[in-house]
Amino acid sequence: MKISEIFISIQGEGVEIGLPTVFVRLFTCDLRCTWCDSMYAVEGADFKEMTIEEVREEIERFDCKRVCFTGGEPLIQQKELEILAKDLIRNEYNIVLETSGHKNPPPVFWADSCLISMDCKCPSSGMEGRMNFELFERLRYKDQLKFVIRDEVDYSYAKEILSRYLIRAKIIFQPVYGTSLKWLTERVLEDRLDRVRVLPQLHKIIWGDIRGV
Ligand code: SF4
Repeated sequence: MKISEIFISIQGEGVEIGLPTVFVRLFTCDLRCTWCDSMYAVEGADFKEMTIEEVREEIERFDCKRVCFTGGEPLIQQKELEILAKDLIRNEYNIVLETSGHKNPPPVFWADSCLISMDCKCPSSGMEGRMNFELFERLRYKDQLKFVIRDEVDYSYAKEILSRYLIRAKIIFQPVYGTSLKWLTERVLEDRLDRVRVLPQLHKIIWGDIRGV
């Protein structure tokens, strides 16, 4: 597998925010979001080739039963990821799959012990045309759909998507790093979007915009 990094931190985003988690960042992505904060895992050669067994051993080393697959886009390495995820589930791990809303997660990620964290890319990302909106309606109540919002255009777009599709998953509005959390919170309150959770990236509040946290 092409692995960018494996580390332990707290979950910085979404409904599991604050929980200790082992992050497995898989290398490469087929999208190019303008504000991507992990380009080192998208382009270049900054990755390590590891066998599935080596990745598994590295995860075990942290002695933490919660694993988040992130990237890059983890589902580009779907075949290996499925084998690894099945193995972890058998060993009572809880898994979060972070994915970008354009690839259908394979069956293993619909298990009870997996949470799918899917992005809906808004216009400021430049990738909104790549989304597969049908996937949003497949998400379960326990899953989450995350909108990363930079401006009023993104905000209106997110609202439009929520009114157009029947989405059971939990909804996260997260400001692009550097965008006002107060502005976004007040917009959600003004519009009484009572199913939307406004959440910051907690790890960046704690450590700043650095790698490996
Ligand atoms: S999908 Fe994620 S990793 Fe890929 S370019 Fe966008 S923000 Fe970066």
